[in-house]
Amino acid sequence: MQTEENILNLYDSSLPELENIVQSWGQPAYRARQIYRQIYVNLADDPQAMTDLALTLREHLTTETRIGTLEVVRVQSADAGLTRKALFRLPGGAVVETVLMVYPDRATVCVSTQAGCAMGCDFCATGKLGLLRNLSPGEIVEQVLWAAREVKHLVPEASDSHPKLPQKLSNVVFMGMGEPFANYDRWWQAVERLHDPRGFNLGARNLTVSTVGLVPGILRLAEEKLPINLAISLHTAADTLRSEMMPVNRRYPIAVLMEATQTYIEKTNRRVSFEYVLLEGRNDSPEQATDLAKLVEGMLCHINLIPWNPVPGMPLSRSNRQRISTFQRILQDRGVACTVRVERGVEIAAACGQLAGVPVSSP
Ligand code: SF4
Repeated sequence: MQTEENILNLYDSSLPELENIVQSWGQPAYRARQIYRQIYVNLADDPQAMTDLALTLREHLTTETRIGTLEVVRVQSADAGLTRKALFRLPGGAVVETVLMVYPDRATVCVSTQAGCAMGCDFCATGKLGLLRNLSPGEIVEQVLWAAREVKHLVPEASDSHPKLPQKLSNVVFMGMGEPFANYDRWWQAVERLHDPRGFNLGARNLTVSTVGLVPGILRLAEEKLPINLAISLHTAADTLRSEMMPVNRRYPIAVLMEATQTYIEKTNRRVSFEYVLLEGRNDSPEQATDLAKLVEGMLCHINLIPWNPVPGMPLSRSNRQRISTFQRILQDRGVACTVRVERGVEIAAACGQLAGVPVSSP
């Protein structure tokens, strides 16, 4: 019997690792494939539900392993149950948040890669926490499997009013708490696990990573074989303002970031998204829209405008509708592809930049 601290979390093992483990128990390797399928295809989270395994193996799994380590502290819902935010406690006590958003044509989960974040963006609730710790691959994967189970069970409940809702989780965005490229190795293992056709089988195009602009991470992603989507938080075309909003800009200023982005586009031939959170009177003027259009002119890119979501205690305001549409029109008139992000879960603090892992009162 293993102690609670070193007990094997099956979500932390790739299939080849699981085959080695199962063989060390005197079992044939194909048993690992059965377990893997149960976890990632059937979404089993209890060995006793794996009825294609012998009872003795199920008992062994029950005593010697665990399927997941995240403790659900609470789940809040909004948008008629189609947005759900989970607060999970990690071993050691830190908490992270995960947000599921179900739309008519897709079900997307936004997952965290770190507890807290060291990047310190001044408009972001997570940034106020500082970095608490990196998540393991299994802790990242487990958030996705939680969402996949929610979709499986929740969508039928909402189906009366939304007959065409998806029945399966379709997209994963690494845009929750933390900077994925600051936890690259573990995060990438999670990406490979979720993509693995023998298991969860999520297409690379259905996976999106968002970075604050860590240039080494962008260049590393350009070399990966798996063509996942890249989103870069830009938020302004001016270095002085960007350094004020995002301390990372002092290390990787805009010119360096754009050069890395161009390298990424040339190597992968993939379109990049630039995220631009709109803050009233700070980065939302017509002149700033023009500067942004000039900066990205000719690049294979898309701008995602995000009306800022309120964070208690921050002296910032979201841009009004008029300013948002003027900003968007200026970009479009200059031939820049641009959309405004549809808001979800603002009232349960599940929207972009609001995640801080603070349990709040019931909605
Ligand atoms: S916006 Fe992202 S990178 Fe910046 S502090 Fe928040 S979580 Fe970290």
